[in-house]
Amino acid sequence: MIIDMESRKNNIKEGLDNIVTINACKLCTPLGACIAFKGIQGCMTILHGSQGCATYIRRYLISHYREPIDIASSSFDENAAIFGGGANLVKSISNVRRQYNPEVLAIATSCLSETIGDDIEMIVKGIESEEKIPIIPVSTASYRGTHREGFYAALLASVKSLAEKKDESSHINIISGMLSPEDIRYLKAIAGEFSDFVLLPDYSETLDSGSWGEYEKIAEGGTAIEDIRSMGSAAGTIELGGSCGLVSTAGKYLEEKFEVPLKNISLPVGLRGSDLLINSLSKLSGKEIPESIKKERLRLLDAYADAHKYLFGVKAIVYGEEDLAVALSSFLSELGISIVLCASGSNTGSFKEEVEKSIIDFDESVTHIAEGVDFEKIDEIAAELEAEIVIGNSKGYKLASKFGIPLIRTGFPIHDRFGGQRIQHVGYKGAMMLLDNIVNAVLETQQKNSSVIYNYM
Ligand code: SF4
Repeated sequence: MIIDMESRKNNIKEGLDNIVTINACKLCTPLGACIAFKGIQGCMTILHGSQGCATYIRRYLISHYREPIDIASSSFDENAAIFGGGANLVKSISNVRRQYNPEVLAIATSCLSETIGDDIEMIVKGIESEEKIPIIPVSTASYRGTHREGFYAALLASVKSLAEKKDESSHINIISGMLSPEDIRYLKAIAGEFSDFVLLPDYSETLDSGSWGEYEKIAEGGTAIEDIRSMGSAAGTIELGGSCGLVSTAGKYLEEKFEVPLKNISLPVGLRGSDLLINSLSKLSGKEIPESIKKERLRLLDAYADAHKYLFGVKAIVYGEEDLAVALSSFLSELGISIVLCASGSNTGSFKEEVEKSIIDFDESVTHIAEGVDFEKIDEIAAELEAEIVIGNSKGYKLASKFGIPLIRTGFPIHDRFGGQRIQHVGYKGAMMLLDNIVNAVLETQQKNSSVIYNYM
């Protein structure tokens, strides 16, 4: 029998493409939920499953945020893995209540508890009145989602558990996407220029706090429970991100259940994204845009003009969770950068359409869009593209170093540099900071690759 080795290799490769992920371009679903729950005041999260899942998530978050992060675990043993972890969960809730004294408890499920089929909503219903604090259950199986979906699912579960319709209020809800603590601080400052507001989740302090004299079991900060309750009575909601493939979000729930008008916009990265945020705030609050913000915008426009000669036509690869990849693509296309590949690890089905909409003068012969891919696949697609810069989280370092091009670190996780929690992506100011980094990375590469020692570029 003659074996065609080439087609055999292809078959194996095809099979592997379907069943194996090598260097995933996505993270575990409850990890995203844990980030969102860090944005609720007095909240402690229990991960319902084995200890390793909680340890991995803690380790991963600590390396990026450089803060102590406690996540409890219902600590499955062999019995729980076979017969269900209900008893473990009840016990862990009681232990965490005693040791941490939280104002609210969040329960996120792991892959194992989801596979067993533990009904955590029912378990929580059975004990919530006894425990006398709100408990927020959220289903976060990693085999049907990513960290970004876990993040939005946690926000949806939070408003489902807590939001109420009270007397009408003039405040605005801002539901943030997966952004940095620095971004959250900026959003709070900008929103405060227009109106009273409730921002969920607010981990600007809990994931980037000052130095402590004594260890705090639950870090100070976060959206107060009373504020989340009031979200059902707001004048309107501005929800950032979440447009790729999510059937329900916290903003949609508030609109459907309490008739709070919703304005969903992409993450406000770059000029157009920031304009949309500022105009939405101005419209909802009925207030004029302050002079200081108008000046910030003009400075950004000026920087765009100054940077054009360095960036026009530069070829870039962008990757990350859908919301940030879409928003960055929009921003890069404003700068005249040519996006040759935009990739994401999850598979929502609407990523392609969102990227196409976000890029100015989208041309499918220039921009490859890849959804549901790992870094192995991104590397393979990138081989022929002659990219000059890579923009994304630290996980793309191998790719950038293979092609000998700079990596502009954005988003999460940033494990190989310092200050990931303080990168600002949003608003005119965030766009300015990203712009400076990109231009300087391009100039540095040109300088390094030149035989002439230029010190004037
Ligand atoms: S088993 Fe699932 S929940 Fe646990 S760390 Fe892995 S992906 Fe996350």
